[in-house]
Amino acid sequence: MGLFSFFTQELAIDLGTANTLIIHEDRVVVNEPSVVTIDNRTGKLVALGTKARQMIGKTHDKLRTIRPLRDGVIADYNAAELMIRGMINMIKPRNRFFKPSLKMVICIPSGSTEVEIRAVRDSSIHAGGRDIYMVYEPLSAAIGLGLDVNAPEGIMVVDIGGGTTEIAVISLGGIVANKSVRFAGDDFTQDIQDYIRQHHNLKIGERTAEQIKIDIGAAIEDIEENPKPITIQGPNLTTSLPSHVHITHKEVAHAIDKTLGKIEIAIQNTLEQTPPELYTDIINKGIYLAGGGALLRGIDIRFSERMNIPFHVADEPLKTIAIGTGIVLKNIEKYGFLMK
Ligand code: ADP
Ligand code: MG
Repeated sequence: MGLFSFFTQELAIDLGTANTLIIHEDRVVVNEPSVVTIDNRTGKLVALGTKARQMIGKTHDKLRTIRPLRDGVIADYNAAELMIRGMINMIKPRNRFFKPSLKMVICIPSGSTEVEIRAVRDSSIHAGGRDIYMVYEPLSAAIGLGLDVNAPEGIMVVDIGGGTTEIAVISLGGIVANKSVRFAGDDFTQDIQDYIRQHHNLKIGERTAEQIKIDIGAAIEDIEENPKPITIQGPNLTTSLPSHVHITHKEVAHAIDKTLGKIEIAIQNTLEQTPPELYTDIINKGIYLAGGGALLRGIDIRFSERMNIPFHVADEPLKTIAIGTGIVLKNIEKYGFLMK
């Protein structure tokens, strides 16, 4: 380790709408919800990540919880900057006397405009970044999946995140076709809330609905191991009195069916835009799924059956993009041309 690297802290950042991950020295050192709580009066950061997320729906008028990213892009610059800075500060400094200079690789959605890319860069600089590189998210995802993005072969990656689903075709180290749609994990959560209101006359919050999705969420009704139905509580919509109901994974599959269908159409549209040679590679090798949404039980089976193409789920869908960004960070020379 040279003297220079002693003063330089190298970070790979996956700035997601739902979760932000930071990789430092090959380890995930930050894995937090992309949420901040801000004091309305002073504009100062009150809480970050998990702590801020626990405050959603529970604040009073002096506090505000914000998700700085929406639809994959920065929606609130000031909050984004506070979040990036706060998360970097969560990492223990190697030496508390020197503030290291930061070298970072940040992944950005493939559909980002110049203005959006600029916003991420500016926020990172304000948060203390010195050398900043950007890599497109689908490339990070494919690298994190262990695929050779530089090969003259078509790869399709579908990243189902919180706010957006990013679909991309990669070949020879570049993105040949891509589509970003605003149907993803948050919509599944909303679908579950709506379903329980309509079918069980019960009002539940976003966090409860998300927990149902994580605990028993399924993309098809017939899955190998049936998760146990769960009991939820909430106010009955007619009486406002507490009531409880049981929810099964089959009901969840039914609730999220339409949103899944929209993602399928987006995948098909992207395949239509794919040049024939690459198309053949993709249908032979299969399509790769990453992002938290890929954790829905049976999602690969459902997609395979509907499209007659094999689908593969990443080993750790919530970490794939961060891991890939970490690999880019360690091999900046090799992947230099992927940078913005
Ligand atoms: P982003 O890149 O937008 O931050 P992530 O890839 O971190 O998104 O995925 C977050 C989404 O994944 C959220 O909508 C979350 O509810 C969902 N999610 C997390 N775990 C699961 C799970 N086990 N089953 C289904 N969805 C999940
Ligand atoms: Mg993501």
